[in-house]
Parts: sequence; structure tokens; C-alpha cells
Amino acid sequence: MMPLTLYDSLSRSLREFAPLDPALGVRVYSCGPTVYNYVHVGNLRAYVFTDTLARVLTWKGYDLNHVINITDVGHLTSDADAGDDKMEAAAKKAGQDIWAIARHYTDAFKQNLNDLNIRTPTHMPLATDHVDGMIEFAKAIEAKHCYRLETGLYFDVSTVPDYGRLARSADDIGESRIDPVEGKRHAQDFAIWRTSPPGENRQMEWDSPWGRGAPGWHLECSVMSQKYLGERFDIHTGGIDHREIHHPNEIAQNQAHCDCADSGANFWMHNNFLIERGGKMSKSSGEFLTLRALVDRGFHPLSYRMLCLQAHYRSELEFTWDNLVAAQVRLKRLVQNIEALRARSDEPSKGSAAAYRDQLDAAVSDDLNTAKALPVLDSLVADKKVAPADRIAALADFAAVLGLPLDRLTRADLRVRPASATIDAEAIEARLEERRAARAAKDFAASDAIRDELAAAGVEVMDGDPLGWDWRPALPAG
Ligand code: AMP
Ligand code: ZN
Repeated sequence: MMPLTLYDSLSRSLREFAPLDPALGVRVYSCGPTVYNYVHVGNLRAYVFTDTLARVLTWKGYDLNHVINITDVGHLTSDADAGDDKMEAAAKKAGQDIWAIARHYTDAFKQNLNDLNIRTPTHMPLATDHVDGMIEFAKAIEAKHCYRLETGLYFDVSTVPDYGRLARSADDIGESRIDPVEGKRHAQDFAIWRTSPPGENRQMEWDSPWGRGAPGWHLECSVMSQKYLGERFDIHTGGIDHREIHHPNEIAQNQAHCDCADSGANFWMHNNFLIERGGKMSKSSGEFLTLRALVDRGFHPLSYRMLCLQAHYRSELEFTWDNLVAAQVRLKRLVQNIEALRARSDEPSKGSAAAYRDQLDAAVSDDLNTAKALPVLDSLVADKKVAPADRIAALADFAAVLGLPLDRLTRADLRVRPASATIDAEAIEARLEERRAARAAKDFAASDAIRDELAAAGVEVMDGDPLGWDWRPALPAG
């Protein structure tokens, strides 16, 4: 296999990957979601990316120790230590128990991962299970790196070398500029512990040397990465927004704890955003795009995975319904072509498909370029010089790396009924039977009427196709 090259955001360069300690496999930490609401499809792009990374590493023979944490405490509505606690605010709004809310959205997140064929990571620790560890960590760095204000314990960013070098530029570190807490020494200083204000009623709070309260958001990732992966590990991932505040702060904490200049991770990797021009990727906008919303419209979750795979993870990707239709059509064609190959799998072997494996390797070894790997897959499926059975056998590598279950996915699986459909599969079959009778009787007016009627109900009739019909995804107007 080829050497794997990955883009490291900290050095801003492509570097050849090698595990720090081969005996420990490859240790990867991915910042997980804050479970105050459903994740949107933009968040899920971050986990399709980490899954691609994990799959490529596994395919190349490494043992993987992968952590995706669950943030169930501490994340404020503003990244600048201001605003409400996202979890507490959600619980208050719903008038519900905060622990039940966290559990509900954590389960929903895991279901989303499953639906997207994202493999379960080795560990999925909850922040609330690690508050003791966070207090210990904070105690260890307090004397040299922190100071107290009435509102809590704060990290002094001038006490570590080169603070913020991960961010795009030192004077552009997002929200910490905008909304500093009263009394901070530097605008970028951040909360390690937030002491509950007197009289405030929090559902989640813990005793600490700095009063009853809750940990600052960044602390959990330093603590959990260290606990599950060690003080120095291979790869840390997150969305590109984390490059500006959350990860610089994690790095500062790690440097304080090891009393060294090291960031903690050998590679820092960031996926670019999925953007939607109508604001549907913002949870504060009210209506935002969940995976469920896509399925309700008649899209298979793997069509969304296909959409992600078509772009390089470091490129911005625009979400439009048309793009999603195109990805779904591409996936259906691919599956249909594979089904046709399977029907011919007893033809004798004649050529080798090995070159396709090498091309796949070349594409993903080049900073996980799945967009380049997909056309290789198409060429393999279409290569008449290679016997169908050999082509099918060669699909296993593509399925493993791209996370598309090509060995078992069928066109029928991809036929997802939109929630708004007014007709069910049985009724469709009945109408199609009538249509066949009408056609046999050369009553084309009646046959066309049935086709139009089905179209109005969200069903596309495909004459000559072995599947016969398909749901039409219901696209929103405008
Ligand atoms: P959060 O729950 O806000 O911490 O987000 C979970 C993950 O999704 C983080 O890695 C974010 O960086 C990432 N993320 C947030 N919005 C988007 C987006 N529109 N596109 C891609 N990744 C995103
Ligand atoms: Zn994190």
C-alpha cells in the first residue's frame, strides 16, 4: 500500500502519516456533538469525514483506538464563555429533565451514525462521567496557568507558548474577541470552571475547589483524550470552526498539563463546512436539516453519505436538494450496475482488477480524496475486460473504504417512501397491475392516466426497469 498523506492544520501542510507508537495502533480523537438537540446534516459531515479517516486507517492495516465524545455539559450558546448553557437552556425550554434530554439526543445521534454506516468508535465517553477527572486536571494546571474571578476559574493564555497558532490568525479568533467576560486578563482567556452564580438553579452542577458549578467546555476534550488515548496521541479531528477557539484552547490546556510546548496530537485535522444558503444549518434558526428530514422526503441516508464522498473533506460543500437528488441517482445507478453484474457472476475469469485497488489506494492516500476514488469505482464496475465475478470481488475494498455496503445494498433498499406520500407500496402494485391490463388492451389513455395519477402521489413509473417503480423524493418548493 502507498504511504498515507494527511493535511495537518497546525503545520498547515500535507505530511506523511506514521503512528507515534505502532504498538498502540493509531489513536484518534474526534470532538463529538453537544446533545441539546438533534445534530444537523452539517454536523454529520464531520462524522462521515472521521469515519472515512478511520476506515482508511483500518484498511491500511492499523489497529484503531477511536474516541468520539458526547458533550452533555458545559457548552455555552456563545463560544466566548457567555450566554446560556446549551443543555440547561434546552431543558428549561422543554420543561424536562436535563439528563433525559441528553440521553434522548445521544441515542438519536448514535442512530444517525448507524444509518450512515458510520462505524461505532472504540469509545464514546460522556463528559458528565468525567467531571472528577476535569477537576483533577484543573487542579494540576491552576497554580501556573489559571486565575480566579467571581464567575469561575479562567485560563490565562499568555502562560503557554504560541497560543492560538492553530487559528487562522492571532487577531481573528472568533467570538472570544466579541464577548469577553468581565475581569478577564486577555480577551482570549477562557473558563476552566464556571461557578454557578448565587441564586441560579442549575440541574447539572458539581462541587469543586472553585465552588459549585460546571466545567468549561474545552476541558472535557483534554481530559477524555488523555484518559483514553494518552497525553500524546496521533490524530485529533473536528469541524473547521473548532480550529478557531475550541482546539486552540484544548492545545493550551494540554501544554499547561504536560508543561511542554506539545499540542497533544501529532496531526490536527479539520473538515470544511456543509453550507446551506437558506440558513437551514443553524440550529437557532428553528427549522434545521436533520437526517430524518432527508429520509422523510424520500432520500436514503446513504445518498447523503454519497453527497459527502463526492467532495473532498477540506472543500466547502453546498447542500441543495438538487445536489442530493444527483447523489441519490448516482448511488442508485451504481447499485443497479452492481446488481446487473451479480446476475452474470458465473462468467469465467479473464483479467485482473488489481489495478483498481491501487488506484483506490492512490486516491485515499492523497489526504483521503474520496472524490477521486468514486470515478475509479465507476470504471471498475464498467470494465468489460474484467469478468463480473472479479469485478464484484474487487468491490470489497471500495465498500470498506467508502463505507458503502455495496455487497448487500439493493435498489429496493434505496426506495424510500416520502413521509408525505399518500399511497403505499401495495396500492402502487395494484395500480400497476391495472395499468398492465390497460396496456395489454391497448388502452393507452387509461395507462397514461394511471401513470399521471401515480406521479401525483409521488411515484415514478419506470417502464422497462426491473424494479418497475420508484418513489420520487418530495422536494420543498422554492
Ligand atoms: P457541535 O455539536 O457544535 O460541537 O458540532 C459537532 C461537530 O460538527 C463539530 O466537529 C463541528 O465542528 C461540526 N460542524 C458544525 N457545523 C458544521 C457544518 N455546517 N458542516 C460541517 N461540520 C460542522
Ligand atoms: Zn473537543
